[in-house]
Amino acid sequence: MSRIRSKDTKPEKLVRLFLFSRGFRYRKNDARLPGKPDIYLPKYKTVIFINGCFWHKHEGCVKFVWPKNNAEYWAKKIEGNVSRDKRNYAELSQMGLKVIVIWECELKKANFEFAMEKLVRSITSQDKQ
Ligand SMILES: [Zn+2]
Repeated sequence: MSRIRSKDTKPEKLVRLFLFSRGFRYRKNDARLPGKPDIYLPKYKTVIFINGCFWHKHEGCVKFVWPKNNAEYWAKKIEGNVSRDKRNYAELSQMGLKVIVIWECELKKANFEFAMEKLVRSITSQDKQ
């Protein structure tokens, strides 16, 4: 399993490429924003996180299963990530940014286009969250 928020992991790259091809312009991993969102679209006041299902605890997802070994370690680690995520999302919202979370499992090949159309709709719908 890969690291939590390594730069330019594959799913993030795919989403960025797609957005770029649609004419969206973004900053990646902007360190001035809480949680360094994978994608920040200044024009749309929107940030996007592409979350790994394991590391960010995608509940109900087949890709999220508690490891049997070192249960306590993992519980602490994963729940720590989850509460950090929540804090970051709240701070970003308070800054007036729309927060969109995409789970890695939504980006499977067969589903990718559907997920991207949904993403574009969420970005461009300008009702406040
Ligand atoms: Zn998932």
